[in-house]
Amino acid sequence: MQKEILKKYARLLVKTGVNIQPGQTLVINAPVEDAEFVRIVAETAYKEGARDVAVSWNDEILAKTRYMLAPDEVFDEFPDWKKEFYLSYAEKGAAFLSISASDPELMKDVDPKRISRANKANSMGLNEYRKRLMSNENSWCVASIPTDAWAKKVFPELSQEEAVGRLWEAILKSVRADLPDPVEAWNAHKATLAENIDRLNQLELKRVHIRNKLGTDLKVELPDGHIWMGGSDYTADGVEFIANMRTEEIFTAPFRKGVNGKVVSSMPLNYNGNLIDGFSLTFKDGRVVDFTAEKGSETLKQLLETDEGAGYLGEIALVPYNSPISNMNILFFNTLFDENASCHLALGKAYPVCLKGSEPMTEVELIEAGINDSLVHVDFMFGTEDLEIDGETKDGQQVPVFRNGNFA
Ligand code: ZN
Ligand code: ZN
Repeated sequence: MQKEILKKYARLLVKTGVNIQPGQTLVINAPVEDAEFVRIVAETAYKEGARDVAVSWNDEILAKTRYMLAPDEVFDEFPDWKKEFYLSYAEKGAAFLSISASDPELMKDVDPKRISRANKANSMGLNEYRKRLMSNENSWCVASIPTDAWAKKVFPELSQEEAVGRLWEAILKSVRADLPDPVEAWNAHKATLAENIDRLNQLELKRVHIRNKLGTDLKVELPDGHIWMGGSDYTADGVEFIANMRTEEIFTAPFRKGVNGKVVSSMPLNYNGNLIDGFSLTFKDGRVVDFTAEKGSETLKQLLETDEGAGYLGEIALVPYNSPISNMNILFFNTLFDENASCHLALGKAYPVCLKGSEPMTEVELIEAGINDSLVHVDFMFGTEDLEIDGETKDGQQVPVFRNGNFA
């Protein structure tokens, strides 16, 4: 990939993504395979006034070797130094950029129980740090760049080199970095999102009813005082940032105990290197009481059993079927992209910022107000071309929200 394009993308992530401030430290979490790009990001950050850049490298191939060969007990451990690394930078006000690029099926031969245990230990170790990020105490951004294996999975018919080239193209397009002035394009996009958000917030819906021909028929209640959000976020200090640079979604938190019916997935879900596909979840009073999966049933089971909150919803997000990522017609096998091509729900933790007046509330108070808590937050897609969503206002009025997959 040409250096000029990498520089343009790096600048977009540093300026519009985490929006680095003078004197602030940037923490980057990235695969070793992406070292060249990380160096460019670091250079950009220093030039924009970053005080320091700290990198936490990861290597999924090594992670797989560990899953295959290490003794069982290590999967319940999380190193103190790693916890300290993230939390201490977070407490000093650092910005966090995470580069996600993984082979969607790398872990298919690994015992799902090992992955689930490691994931749980990881979530527990990083819980405090994650909470800070999910409440926007620090600015953060997740971004992607291609790896060989991922590109080959997305474009199996192309040569390795062509596949990586095509994936780069798609990624840059998805974040509007292919346009002459990406920052300007972002401002226009944020304005469109804001219009739809305002409209939904004014309705103060009591619940939404979701249906399509795949078999989804789900009623999702929304908590009193819920807020629909999307586009950019603000830290407590008022710094604007964009957590997911592909953002096409408008989302809020469902009422924890108010979900009933069945939802059928419309895309495969890559969860920790395993694909879960063709699945459905049945809810009663908020909780998953039954599930089916054509592929990855054991992985889905492990996910649902992570903790009490993993069986409840933490997010409902609306994405028009007619949106830039969806129109590319590429299955990315990466939630960061696929969730922005389709309406989705998330199992697990909800974003407390989706509830008015949530800042001073304790965890118990948040749960009582209907905001779910869990060690996990996993998005899965249900949007289709024929999706219909009806809203019901507090006084019982019916409002069409989605018709034929798009905002009504
Ligand atoms: Zn989402
Ligand atoms: Zn989500």
